[in-house]
Amino acid sequence: MLDDSDIARILAITAHPDDVDFGAAGTIARWTEAGIEVTYCVVTDGDAGGFDEDFPRDEMPALRRAEQIAAAKCVGVYDVRFLGYPDGRVEATLDLRRDLARVIRQVRPDRVVCPSPERNYVRMGASHPDHRAVGSAALDAVYPDARNPFAFPELRDDEGLAAWTVSEIFVVAGPASNHFVDITATFGRKIAALRAHESQTGHWDDLEGRIRAMLGRIAAQADLPDGHLAEAFQVLDAS
Ligand SMILES: [Zn+2]
Repeated sequence: MLDDSDIARILAITAHPDDVDFGAAGTIARWTEAGIEVTYCVVTDGDAGGFDEDFPRDEMPALRRAEQIAAAKCVGVYDVRFLGYPDGRVEATLDLRRDLARVIRQVRPDRVVCPSPERNYVRMGASHPDHRAVGSAALDAVYPDARNPFAFPELRDDEGLAAWTVSEIFVVAGPASNHFVDITATFGRKIAALRAHESQTGHWDDLEGRIRAMLGRIAAQADLPDGHLAEAFQVLDAS
């Protein structure tokens, strides 16, 4: 596994606005505090989200983009890109693989964060079909698409994007986590990011308490001392 001090850039790929904040914002705050540049690529605008039935649906994409941009700032991320795929209908198509390979070649990250393509039977909510589709397409975009100069030749020929090899992948919310990041020190920044998704979390009763309990359980799995909080990942060597 790479040391954070060897990492210059990280790209976090997610299906919906708020996914990165539930799964990884505490870890991302640690990375940006260490001087690592982090970019978000959000595949949909979360236009099927929200809970307020009176809110005009056609305004949802703009609202959720704005919420994700505000949440990103809470953890030191200022580059947020949206691909505009329809929420709830994402499939791991060749188009999505090409679009993700494009962003990987543009950002040239050392590490990619993405959802798991596998279903987590313990946490149904983690395995939304869009998450699994984006996880599958993201892994394919890392290997082989982004690194193979002959894959999607239009990226090279028409857009001048050279092949790029990502060294490492952090998979979020999969069934086989093997790496735990202590985020006790950045928990407040994660909660601020989650609160920025007002349309998603505004109705939650005791958001902070519920997230603290969840992250405390993850910390216990990692044998961290009582009171510590952690986020979990499956780390893959992609080099
Ligand atoms: Zn989601």
